Amino acid sequence: MKRLVVLGAGESGVGTAILAQKEGYDVFVSDMGCIKDNYKEQLTAHSLAWEEKHHTEELILNADEIVKSPGIPGDAPMVKKAVEKGIPILSEIEFAGRYTDARMICITGSNGKTTTTSLIFHILQKAGFSVGLAGNIGRSMALQVATTSPEWFVLEISSFQLENMYDFRANIAVLLNITPDHLDRYDYKMQGYVDAKMRIIRNQQPTDYFIYWKDDEYIEKELKKYDEKAHLCTFADERKEGVTGYAENGSFVLTAPADFTMTVAELALQGRHNVRNSLAAAAAALAAEVPEQTIREGLQDFRGVPHRLEKVGTVDGVHYINDSKATNVDACYYALDAMTTPVVLIIGGKDKGNDYNEILPLVKEKCRALVFLGADNTKLKDFFRSTGITIADTHSMKDCVEACKALAHQGDTVLLSPCCASFDLFNNMAERGNMFKEMVLNRAK
Ligand code: ADP
Repeated sequence: MKRLVVLGAGESGVGTAILAQKEGYDVFVSDMGCIKDNYKEQLTAHSLAWEEKHHTEELILNADEIVKSPGIPGDAPMVKKAVEKGIPILSEIEFAGRYTDARMICITGSNGKTTTTSLIFHILQKAGFSVGLAGNIGRSMALQVATTSPEWFVLEISSFQLENMYDFRANIAVLLNITPDHLDRYDYKMQGYVDAKMRIIRNQQPTDYFIYWKDDEYIEKELKKYDEKAHLCTFADERKEGVTGYAENGSFVLTAPADFTMTVAELALQGRHNVRNSLAAAAAALAAEVPEQTIREGLQDFRGVPHRLEKVGTVDGVHYINDSKATNVDACYYALDAMTTPVVLIIGGKDKGNDYNEILPLVKEKCRALVFLGADNTKLKDFFRSTGITIADTHSMKDCVEACKALAHQGDTVLLSPCCASFDLFNNMAERGNMFKEMVLNRAK
């Protein structure tokens, strides 16, 4: 009997353990932290062996294979020991992919993954496909494979998962962009992160599709290093040589994998970055042979994803938008770029070494005021002081929303797009976004 150790008992780990048991493995689950009650219940219900708050080295290093949660870094002591012993380390997607014939649409990139993955899933569901949503989002892929595997999977895949994928084949691969992120996990070497992202095209065959952003600084250059066999589809902001998807003069156009047109104004998701995401999603849906009319409707009636340019409401003539997921400067840049009214911008939180020069021109062009929200706003104050823009310094969501209310004029937009992680004042970005929404909407009562 092959021995499989699962490191990390979260959604993906527990799903993997259940699938592995079904496939005849001797399974052991080990988590250095505390396992959530609902996962403990699932493990126990399946009579799976597990431990928490420590790793039993003899058991772990006795494995034939290890499936590692993407949250555990590759240089964690136990992982390093396993690698030294030559034990293969896999991701959930790699493992689960062995046990299903489902066709795979895989989305990766530094920004826009969740939005594009959800949009593609929405379109395929609308078309009546048997389809599962998984990866960094939704329910564990392994668990879905263990129960009733759908005919298609739409998978949001992070660079951490890609690092431990070897034989997995993406029938339709989408690479949205590669911008510096998570460099702490790659020894601060950009190439390591780029190499991880490019793994999305490993094992692609001539019948497959690779959809990527033509204007990205890295992707096209990198592609030359690979013997990529799949059909190539590209998207960009404008029509030019080699681009098969673009938006021009208000038209939204694809010429591959098939001809497709609609208008930008009809798209549910607004903003330049979302036009790109919509182009990528339309190309993926065309590659999956979804009827053109269904794609058009899906792009029109998609309701968006919480915390990504999410409309909260209009209070006293002021529009409120929750973009709490913008935890880096790049994401805030695109949010600001999409704004069509004067903006009161909320930024701040746990700074990851941000360089605010990237947003400076847009801040000067679009912002009426800046409201800083963080435990320590010194860096922001020092950086933006010279702009002469009105600044408010706040340390709680309540004070922040009050400050916005005082600063915004009728017709303005208050935009929470913080450029920073949330951990200084909140548990996570969702809590930050939810508190923002609550504070804004309570005032409306
Ligand atoms: P991810 O799952 O990759 O983190 P999301 O879809 O959750 O991406 O979006 C995160 C943030 O990135 C959003 O707040 C949005 O402003 C920004 N964003 C979305 N799509 C793009 C894109 N194609 N290019 C750049 N930024 C984007």
